[in-house]
Amino acid sequence: MTELSDPFDCVHLWHPYTSTTHPLPAFKVKRAYGSTIELADGSRLIDGMSSWWCAIHGYNHPELNAAAAAQLQDMAHVMFGGFTHQPAIDLGKLLLQIVPPNLQRIFYADSGSVAVEVALKMAVQYQTARGMVQKTNFITPRSGYHGDTWNAMSVCDPVSGMHHIFGSNLPNRLFVPAPQSRFDGEWNDSDISVLRQTLAEHHPHIAALILEPIVQGAGGMRFYHPEYLRQARLLCEEYDLLLIFDEIATGFGRTGKLFAWEHANVQPDIMCIGKGLSGGYLTLSAVLTTAAVADTISQGEAGVFMHGPTFMANPLACAIALKSTQLLLAQDWQSTIQRIETQLRQALEPMRDFPQVADVRVLGAIGVVELNQAVNMAAFQAACVARGIWVRPFGKLVYVMPPYVITPQELAFLLTQLTAILQSE
Ligand SMILES: *Cc1c(COP(=O)(O)O)cnc(C)c1O
Repeated sequence: MTELSDPFDCVHLWHPYTSTTHPLPAFKVKRAYGSTIELADGSRLIDGMSSWWCAIHGYNHPELNAAAAAQLQDMAHVMFGGFTHQPAIDLGKLLLQIVPPNLQRIFYADSGSVAVEVALKMAVQYQTARGMVQKTNFITPRSGYHGDTWNAMSVCDPVSGMHHIFGSNLPNRLFVPAPQSRFDGEWNDSDISVLRQTLAEHHPHIAALILEPIVQGAGGMRFYHPEYLRQARLLCEEYDLLLIFDEIATGFGRTGKLFAWEHANVQPDIMCIGKGLSGGYLTLSAVLTTAAVADTISQGEAGVFMHGPTFMANPLACAIALKSTQLLLAQDWQSTIQRIETQLRQALEPMRDFPQVADVRVLGAIGVVELNQAVNMAAFQAACVARGIWVRPFGKLVYVMPPYVITPQELAFLLTQLTAILQSE
């Protein structure tokens, strides 16, 4: 085990959501390729996480490497203020072909959380520009996850996002119950009633409704009924607020559609994308909106949109994102996701009968096993590494979302080992 952790790391490097006094082990990775992550001692793990949704083509992909190397010959970066460049233009052209057709203006940002900040700022600037200066707050379903920066955090689930530890300066948002109708189940109209009532009362102060379409990711790994989005769209029109879709996790084929809005055929006013956008190589996100929203902001008092990160439209990230998206579109990704979905269902469904399992959910290339009790993360991950797989649960949720390049044999291995670990939970 010792060669798998690092003494400097243990003392000095903070890892995501961990303690410095009781850090969870962090396994040292030497290299990664395809669906394989190789640790410092040479042992190999089959990846079930795509490094948190993003490494859709697996690791060390020759074509993505080549795109990065080629872009480095020209420039790694140049400021986007006053300059533009081919990677940003080509990526933009390609994105417009695959996002909701009403979204025609693109703002590049650095990460998912920043994209959410940008989307929220757009909504407020839009409302103030049209004289609706009271419309500055947001409404969102519980069990959501939108990132870890201040405003993104404010629209995350207040319980799993531990809002209470941040004090009274964390903006107070309006929360409605998470939709209960399951993706493949019956639509229950009561799912939308609290949203309707809350909007009827509070709409003069609400700029936008923000949600993750179809799949609530890190806030609970829940898949809900497309009708919720259709109803929400109508309510946003009735009460004059913008609809923001956070597709940072759901984008680029993960749910079986290129983007999750397609399950409901509902177009948002603003959409955030990230994670899979750059194929897991570099941090990059984008916020897309309609010409109407962008033009209204531009005709407002400020006359401009007040945001401009240093690494906006980073050419290296854009060049890799362009190649990653081209790679995805050039293959029969629907069949790939379908194949992964079928295999996930076959392997995970039988776990319903385990006494320790509360629910099993599969959609596209996402498989979720919800347990009755929270897993012991340290023990669980040690078991994963001992069995040659990589799965990182949170709380009661054990889930896999493998890279699309995973072979049927690799996926079978991953799921067999995962089953064995869960059997002994
Ligand atoms: C991961 C995630 C974010 C935040 O993205 P980062 O790149 O981690 O800042 C926002 N929204 C959703 C739905 C996500 O899954």
